[in-house]
Amino acid sequence: MHETKAVYTLKDLESWTSREPQLAVLGHPIKHSLSPVMHNAALQHFAAEKPELAAWHYKRFDVTPEELPQALKALQARGFVGLNLTVPHKVLACDLVAGIDRSAEGIGAVNTLVSTPEGWRGYNTDGYGLYAGIKQDLGIDLQGQSVLLLGAGGAARGAAVECLRRGVKKLVVMNRSRANLEALVATLNSFKTADCTVLGLTPEEDKTALGPESLVINATSLGLKPEDPAPVDLQALPRPKAVFDMVYNPPKTRLLADASALGLPCSNGLSMLVNQGAKALSLWTGLDSERLQPVMARALKAQLV
Ligand code: NDP
Repeated sequence: MHETKAVYTLKDLESWTSREPQLAVLGHPIKHSLSPVMHNAALQHFAAEKPELAAWHYKRFDVTPEELPQALKALQARGFVGLNLTVPHKVLACDLVAGIDRSAEGIGAVNTLVSTPEGWRGYNTDGYGLYAGIKQDLGIDLQGQSVLLLGAGGAARGAAVECLRRGVKKLVVMNRSRANLEALVATLNSFKTADCTVLGLTPEEDKTALGPESLVINATSLGLKPEDPAPVDLQALPRPKAVFDMVYNPPKTRLLADASALGLPCSNGLSMLVNQGAKALSLWTGLDSERLQPVMARALKAQLV
C-alpha cells in the first residue's frame, strides 16, 4: 500500500500498516538515489526463483541526522529487513547499531544494515564494490598493485582499507588538505602487511616516489560537477596503468577524458555502485551477489540513458 510514493519520511512510519519484508535507503537528500531502480529490478527478477521476494520492495526515505536514531528503531519495528545508508548517515550510524561486521571495522562507516534479533548489524559493502568494479571494468585485481588514491574523505578511507586488505604492494594517498591526509594515513598502519608501503602526499609534493604503472583511483568529489577540473594532472605522473573514477554521474569526468586522451584504460564508478548494491542485496536475501550484479547493472544503465 505504500509502494507508490517516491520518497518517504519518518512521519509515514507512524501510519505504516504493512508488515511485509521491506528494504530502504536512508539519506538526506535522497530523491536522486538510483538504488531503488536496481534493487527493485533484482527483487522482481529473482522472485521467479524465490517467490517470497515478490512481496519485498526497496524504498527511499528522507531522514535527517537528528531523526536517524528514531528512524532506525521504527523501521526495524515495522519489519524492514535491510537498509542502505548514504550521505550523511554512514558514520553516524556506527554508534546506533548493535554490532559491526569486519567489513566496516576500521573504516568507521556503514552503508548496509541487516536486521537481527539484537538490533541492526552494520556492514560496509563499498570496499567490495570498488574491488569488484575495478576487476570487472579494468580486468585488474588489487592484489600486488601499486595504487595512487586521490582523496582522504569517507570513500577514500573505505578504498584505502580495501586496497590494504586485498594486498596491494604500494598505496600512495594524495589529498588537498594535509590534516585530513595525515589523519587517514595514520590509521592505515594497522591494516598493512610488512611488505606493503603506505605514503601520503599533497598535490604540490614531488611524485617520483609513485613509480610507473600505478592504478589511479579518484575518491575525491571533484568531477561531480561537469565543470570540475581533474583532481590530478595525469601527465605530471609517471605513466599510470589505468584510471578508476568513483564518480559515475556525469559518466565522463575531466579525469576520465584525460585518461582516454592518453590512451589509458579507464572506467567510471557505476560498476562500484552496482557491486556494492549487489553485495548488500546478497546479505539480505542470501542470493549470490555475482548473480544479482548483471540484473542490477542492466536496470541502472537503462535508467541512465
Ligand atoms: P567526502 O566529502 O568525505 O570527501 C571529499 C574528498 O574530496 C576529500 O578528500 C576532499 O579533500 C576532496 N575534495 C573536495 N573538493 C575538492 C577540491 N575542490 N579539490 C581537491 N580535493 C577536493 O566525500 P566522500 O568520500 O563521501 O565521496 C567522494 C566521492 O566518491 C564522491 O564523488 C562520491 O560521489 C563518490 N562515491 C562513489 C561511490 C560509488 O559507488 N561509485 C560510493 C561512495 C562515494 P579535503 O580533505 O582537502 O577537503
